[in-house]
Amino acid sequence: QKRTALEKIRELFIYNSLTNKKEVFRPVKAGYVGMYVCGPTVYSNVHLGNVRTFMSFDMVFRYLLHLGYKVRYVRNITDAGHLTEDSEEDKISTKARLEQLEPMEIVQKYTIDFHHILEKFNNLPPSIEPTATGHILEQIQAIETILENGLAYIVNGSVYFDVLKYNENEHYGILSKRKIEDAIENTRSLDGQSDKRNPQDFALWKRAEPEHIQRWNSPWGIGFPGWHLECSVMSTKYLGEEFDIHGGGMDLKFPHHECEIAQAQACNHVAPVRYWMHGNMLTMNGKKMSKSTGNNILPEEIFSGNNANISKAFAPSVARFFMMQAHYRSVLDFSNDAMLAAEKGYSRLMEAMNLLPELKASEGSSVDPERWREDCYVAMSDDFNTPILIAHLFEAVKWINLIKEGKETISASDKELLEETMKVFVYDVLGLENAMSGSDNSEKLDAVVEVLIGLREQARADKNWALSDQIRDDLAAQGIQLKDGKDGTSYSLT
Ligand code: AMP
Ligand code: ZN
Repeated sequence: QKRTALEKIRELFIYNSLTNKKEVFRPVKAGYVGMYVCGPTVYSNVHLGNVRTFMSFDMVFRYLLHLGYKVRYVRNITDAGHLTEDSEEDKISTKARLEQLEPMEIVQKYTIDFHHILEKFNNLPPSIEPTATGHILEQIQAIETILENGLAYIVNGSVYFDVLKYNENEHYGILSKRKIEDAIENTRSLDGQSDKRNPQDFALWKRAEPEHIQRWNSPWGIGFPGWHLECSVMSTKYLGEEFDIHGGGMDLKFPHHECEIAQAQACNHVAPVRYWMHGNMLTMNGKKMSKSTGNNILPEEIFSGNNANISKAFAPSVARFFMMQAHYRSVLDFSNDAMLAAEKGYSRLMEAMNLLPELKASEGSSVDPERWREDCYVAMSDDFNTPILIAHLFEAVKWINLIKEGKETISASDKELLEETMKVFVYDVLGLENAMSGSDNSEKLDAVVEVLIGLREQARADKNWALSDQIRDDLAAQGIQLKDGKDGTSYSLT
């Protein structure tokens, strides 16, 4: 009886972008979750904005696992077919020509980078990581089915999805809430050079021009698949025609996810996804972080401090804590001040984690971890509300410090409960690593360099240029670069 009451409190609610409502989560098969998240297009290094989206779904994955679901998490690698915004070329081919490499060399290089970066941020690997190029046959089969069902047409070796025809019986725009007149894909075809019947139509298969280097045989001639198709095909193959959760960044809602729904409906006559989840954007200087505008920061620059937007290096866990302090559906703005504040918060949390095992237990408790634990579950079960969860964790941090000072008391059993619950939420669910225990000395390094910067300032004030230069040069020789700016001196690791 008590258990069911608890389960009721912890009932998971997910905000569904399809209905724009929070809904109780009911998986297709009780106890199991199928989750698909759109992966990266591997033609460049991931920036911190990309990382935010993958980290948000890592947190979702972690919480589902913690709740006891058996989760099959599929996240693809786009290694073909993603057209650039201003041409009909695909991103991998364009980059391969620019760098004079095989497309698969580009793919390999940036896939390795992607895995390396996500591991640094302590993201769990997905259960299956399929590639578009590994599923060309399945994509050709899907196109044949859509053609048989009368919802696509062939022109000059390309195949297009017939959006207007589809929209006679189904609703194109169901996810993005666009009217059909406005649902136009933003490609060069707008200027009238297109083979498309209508500007809303999108490519399922594209004829390869002679210079196009990624190419496959098909019933329609030599070409390559359209980007939207791989996700429909691979999600269906590994998760079934109807699965539980589909995720990605907000910017993928249209056209990518709208097209995914249309393709799946055209193939299988069923809505493919029960819960559509969209993570919001990471911005910098108030604008969306993006590869093409250059308004972005790379993870490696965060770890080294080597970027004009930050005054120092930050540990991956600090960046992860920074992200988790915002709800995944809120816009989050990256700034040096916000990172410095996150670093303080993170340190306070980890200091408390380290103190916790040493606390002395009393006869009774003046704090109530039982109720507090339920609050933590309620926060996470309310559409993964990590900022509220973190507020609760800091309530516990306050207790820990007061118990240490003898101003609050805790019984042995309550202490065990508190410790176990803190570990669950901090390490397992939020995926934070404790860089303050063991061998990580980044805090101490910060403090030591601050001392040296102070001594150098003193030397300069004394006009002792020889000493101030020596401090700078000796640090540089150790791979610590001092940077003099208008707000004082900062450092980066070279
Ligand atoms: P792409 O490799 O361009 O397909 O992007 C990979 C993922 O990163 C997608 O889910 C995008 O929605 C997401 N993404 C791109 N820019 C940002 C950003 N500034 N903030 C958060 N997510 C982003
Ligand atoms: Zn996708």
